[in-house]
Amino acid sequence: MSFSDGTRSVHAGLPEPEVGRPFLPGPVFAAPYHLDPVTGPGAHGYARTEQPTREALEAAIGELEGGAALAFASGQAAVTAMLLSLVKAGDRVALPGDGYFPVRAFARDALAGLGVESVLVPTAGPYPDFTGLRLVMLETPANPGLDVADIVALAAAAHAAGALLAVDNTAATPLGQNPLALGADLVVASGTKALTGHSDLLLGYVAARDTALLEKVETWRKLTGGVPGAFDCWLAHRSIATMDLRLARQSQNAAAIASLLAGRPDVTGVRWPGLETDPAYEIAAKQMRRIPGIVAFDLGSAERVARFLSAARLVFAATSFGGVHTTADRRAQFGDDTAPGFVRFSCGIEDTADLVADVTQALDASA
Ligand SMILES: *Cc1c(COP(=O)(O)O)cnc(C)c1O
Repeated sequence: MSFSDGTRSVHAGLPEPEVGRPFLPGPVFAAPYHLDPVTGPGAHGYARTEQPTREALEAAIGELEGGAALAFASGQAAVTAMLLSLVKAGDRVALPGDGYFPVRAFARDALAGLGVESVLVPTAGPYPDFTGLRLVMLETPANPGLDVADIVALAAAAHAAGALLAVDNTAATPLGQNPLALGADLVVASGTKALTGHSDLLLGYVAARDTALLEKVETWRKLTGGVPGAFDCWLAHRSIATMDLRLARQSQNAAAIASLLAGRPDVTGVRWPGLETDPAYEIAAKQMRRIPGIVAFDLGSAERVARFLSAARLVFAATSFGGVHTTADRRAQFGDDTAPGFVRFSCGIEDTADLVADVTQALDASA
């Protein structure tokens, strides 16, 4: 029997019921474990390599992504481990030119020095010929501009050229799209955002179906050590249970906010892939099961964004996205190459009418 998203979120990675035991066992706090004095390690010897709380979380993420998953201490730890374990000097990789900007910074500051050449490609295309590339990485929808890439078509093109295709699934989450089922070899993501949704932890993961590929990443993780702690893994696993409910409200709020913004002459550049007029609408409707709660728009100047954020009561000025609280940030303040008035707005799970009313009064007050 195959279950739907709400059921899968609640049950992902849970152990078989055992009388007298909790549904989700608590975190196991241990670095070393008892060894057998004669035969040595059992299933768990040392937590950098084996950790039961982390393994339960990885089982949950793996079930939702449709592959096997490895958890990392942050999304950046996962992205960089994926790249460093699979590319070597002389390789060329294609990376999103408009995605999460620390990935570009990593390519420039670290990969280039190791002899790995990066080609930056805009998410909406045009895509170059992939001949000679070792790996193509997409980020779709891209953070923060929200363009969408065609995973099926680009996986086929990458494979025809002998390249691996990796997809950053942070914004979509595994309930929004399953890149592995669409032909990707690897999924990388930050679990800090909508996957866990409470703005209280850092997490990342790499997922794949090919065990040999994932083994390379696991060996890299063992040798470099970027593992998440037991308590964060447990918090993350607990939070995944509500992912379907959170995403449903976030997406509903984003639909309302996007249509409010699109109807205002004092707001420009509104992007939400669920808007029928959005350039990414068609491909998003084809490959995504739900549209994330992130809306991008431009208020014209840094000053107006500051007035908007000061006037809003339900919109916290904060970076990151995907949490239960509505947040917004002006990306240019972090060095993202976006316009000075560009806002990334992340819908929380507040009541839609309250949020729409608050954003309306804040836009009016800041105009
Ligand atoms: C936040 C983010 C990351 C990095 O995740 P951290 O958990 O902050 O290290 C990577 N990719 C995307 C698309 C992100 O939004």
